Amino acid sequence: MLANKTALITGSTSGIGLGIAKALARQGANILLNGFGDADGPQAEIRALGAKVAYHGADMSKPSEIEAMMNFAADSFGQVDILVNNAGIQHVARIEAFPIDKWDAILAINLSSAFHATRLALPAMRKANWGRIINVASVHGLVASAEKSAYVAAKHGVVGLTKVTALENATTGVTCNAICPGWVLTPLVQKQVDAKASANGVSNEEAKKLLLGEKEPSMQFTTPEELGELAVFFCSPAGANVRGVAWNMDGGWVAQ
Ligand code: NAD
Repeated sequence: MLANKTALITGSTSGIGLGIAKALARQGANILLNGFGDADGPQAEIRALGAKVAYHGADMSKPSEIEAMMNFAADSFGQVDILVNNAGIQHVARIEAFPIDKWDAILAINLSSAFHATRLALPAMRKANWGRIINVASVHGLVASAEKSAYVAAKHGVVGLTKVTALENATTGVTCNAICPGWVLTPLVQKQVDAKASANGVSNEEAKKLLLGEKEPSMQFTTPEELGELAVFFCSPAGANVRGVAWNMDGGWVAQ
């Protein structure tokens, strides 16, 4: 379905980004990976799916590096047709104790990077009159949790940016939507499981149940594979008039 399309997925050396990259690769898209983790393993996984793959290590907190990555994408594959703004970090602390550098980093990586990649990707998408921008927000783009001020503010911002991007391109073939996962067991969440295990003196498995029990009625983690299939739907012909939604895949978290 996506042969001859190129997808850039930020923060795709692990977790959700890699899951989305693999799902798009299975549909025949060329893949540009980004992120700070090991890039060789993920590149080999994508290649094994029969897709072309490249990697750029831009730091998504730096607009000049984002611009260099967009230029690299154009040089490698012609242009970016599908942009998945996924890179993100987390830090957990009450507002009065929240480190200023962590606030700045979370806003830069989780929110501003999506603005920069989007503004740089749009001209070619509009020229081709086809594009898909998928912002990986979070349930925390829709509701809040204590001790996650920067993350919740950034993710609510991502949902707002999604709506504006959708509206500004509503009469074109370029759509923009957000995906809002609940708990997904990636390195980002494993850190929170570890913190819960040590705070409560319980095992890794017990800590996972505590984490799910607080928020996710299904008591199941959402998986990168499931999120990948939602991204594929947004890229499909049936998704052509889905514009500006923030679609939660969260085991019932936001339904409560
Ligand atoms: P992850 O830690 O597995 O992946 C994050 C990716 O971002 C990694 O590839 C990492 O190297 C990259 N990254 C971090 N800082 C970067 C930077 N400055 N420049 C470039 N890349 C950078 O985490 P994940 O859980 O897969 O998170 C992916 C996205 O999904 C994030 O935006 C996160 O907020 C969101 N999300 C995660 C969950 C969850 O439960 N795991 C839930 C909702 C939303």
